[in-house]
Amino acid sequence: MNRLLMHVGPSIGNRDVLLAGARDNIGFATKDFVQAMGDSLEGLRMVMGVGGKFQPFILPGSGTSAMESVASFLHEGDRVLIITNGIFGNRWEGIFSRYRVKCDVVGAEAGESVTPDMIREKTEGSHYRMSFMTHVETSTGVRAPVDSLLKELKKVSDLITVDGVASAGGELVDAEKRGIDICLTASQKAIGAPPGAGLLVASEKAMSQLADDSLAGYSLNLKNWLPIMKGMEEGRGGYFATPPINTVFSLQEAFRLIAEETMAARLERHKMASGMLRAGIRGMGMEVVAGEGIESNTVTGLRLKNSKQKDVLEKSMKLGVEFGSGVHPGVKPDYIRIGHMGWVQEHHVLRALSVLERSLKASGESIKAAEGVKAAQEFIT
Ligand code: PMP
Repeated sequence: MNRLLMHVGPSIGNRDVLLAGARDNIGFATKDFVQAMGDSLEGLRMVMGVGGKFQPFILPGSGTSAMESVASFLHEGDRVLIITNGIFGNRWEGIFSRYRVKCDVVGAEAGESVTPDMIREKTEGSHYRMSFMTHVETSTGVRAPVDSLLKELKKVSDLITVDGVASAGGELVDAEKRGIDICLTASQKAIGAPPGAGLLVASEKAMSQLADDSLAGYSLNLKNWLPIMKGMEEGRGGYFATPPINTVFSLQEAFRLIAEETMAARLERHKMASGMLRAGIRGMGMEVVAGEGIESNTVTGLRLKNSKQKDVLEKSMKLGVEFGSGVHPGVKPDYIRIGHMGWVQEHHVLRALSVLERSLKASGESIKAAEGVKAAQEFIT
């Protein structure tokens, strides 16, 4: 069966992007690969909304590798502030409780976002080396109100890192204009390539902190990767550790397609797809997990009333659509997650909604046929 992937990552595939990576093994010093890496580093700047002063990195691994590589900017005894709206925001604490830094945490209830007031209350009289926040919290689909939070964080923090794993390529990141120092993502999410790479951009200010005595270990130490990244952009091959070669060829094609579509059109497409989906969910009489006004354009949580996620997911899969499981224990009684990022189109959303109508009904919800699809159709017309 040709199944539709509406998972929160990896996201829907694109044939050209996948085929670009489906090639014979090739060395990392070849002209082809150096070109693919150089193009991808430049493509990453485009998606993150930064210019030549920002240093891009593409690392083997995933979003979590990019997160952990941020230890390259920290030193023993630093204080860090973690703003978390859910499971992936909590991951920063999971990572940095393993390092010799002191973490303060401000957290929100499931489906909500930390507010500027909550930051002010927690940080009164404090100063931090770095603050962390998650643009789109994948466990609930909440998009943090980035500008109002950044305004508070800038008052108390030298450097600000934003996790754009579920946003970059589907939401406006605009890291340079917003004054974000470090922004990171992964290849398999809204950029729409296969898994295998963690991607990160760092400002000049952040790069000036990259020292020999940072807390980073070896393989994710950005100081070790810097000469390789610079070399690739200057057309020279280089080796520190083997890069995710095939994923980089896919990334090169993904960034080419993104440039061709334009970021503005891509963001509009994500806005339309997510708007349709939410209209459809509400049209069926169901609810989304994220509070009103903070729903993301890339991930939606669907609250279940009388059904269990296991049943809905299994039935949907049999009907040809793969959704994601609910993972945040604070969302009661149960929920599923729907990813709509990367190469998502209107017709994917319509197919997802019609399958949901059937799988939800078969799992115990009272849904009338075509109510969701009708609401989504009305949303676009
Ligand atoms: N941050 C966010 C917001 C995410 O959604 C994810 C992945 N779901 C991660 C970090 C971790 O990324 P990865 O699974 O690629 O390591």
